[in-house]
Amino acid sequence: MTKLKIKGLILDFGFTIFYFKNVSVKRYFECYKKGLQDSANYLEKLNILKDDLTIRKFISLFNKKRAFFFKESIKTKIEFPTNMIFQNVLETMEKKRYIDSLIDINEEIYDELANLYHAFELEEWVPFEHTRNTLKKISKLEEIKIAILSNHPHHATIENLLKKHDLLEFFDTVVTSAKFGRRKPDPEIFYHTLKKMGLENYPNSCLICGDEHADVVGGHRAGLKTILCERLFKFPFEKEIKVPNFIKISNISEILDYII
Ligand SMILES: [Mg+2]
Repeated sequence: MTKLKIKGLILDFGFTIFYFKNVSVKRYFECYKKGLQDSANYLEKLNILKDDLTIRKFISLFNKKRAFFFKESIKTKIEFPTNMIFQNVLETMEKKRYIDSLIDINEEIYDELANLYHAFELEEWVPFEHTRNTLKKISKLEEIKIAILSNHPHHATIENLLKKHDLLEFFDTVVTSAKFGRRKPDPEIFYHTLKKMGLENYPNSCLICGDEHADVVGGHRAGLKTILCERLFKFPFEKEIKVPNFIKISNISEILDYII
């Protein structure tokens, strides 16, 4: 097996080093539904949403806006973070006089809404069996920098999951689309990650490993080496990966065959 000579390794998060327990589209929806209800309850406690009708309005408006911004993000590669969507929803409700003036609402409240909305993810995402050992072995190679690069609308979720499972120490940097503002496959987010690793002049000496079109095709276009970590569960309407010559692995530990 040919070894890849690399100075940097960029790992995707979801279905590359962590998986979602019993994943299905239905389960995703159930979990988000509960998160949104918790966010609404929080706004009720703050007396921003004052009755059932306003709560229902808030929930339906959030779902509409989230679907809209999600489509936009796929089209434009701009990320619309969850706290920003909550802000947009409440500002719309204020304009339409469903709620009183938002003058007292600050950033922390929007952040807390996003935390509540994504809270269930802390239970549902877990590292693959081989994740820890693989990271441990790679982190012993001092010449290789390691980064996480995740398309996620809430940065704290990714950092908290890495902390919760004691994996944060293995990474030199954690980049999310929520914090950077653009999503994979946009080359800019790959360049930004390389820069944070101090490797902006060595894209070809860096390897991205991920389970999606956005990871491998995006990484390839940005000049990186790529490995596709094939996922068993297929999402509906997933973009097909047509480039046949990518290296493929079926779990993260196999990456060691290529770099050590
Ligand atoms: Mg992924």
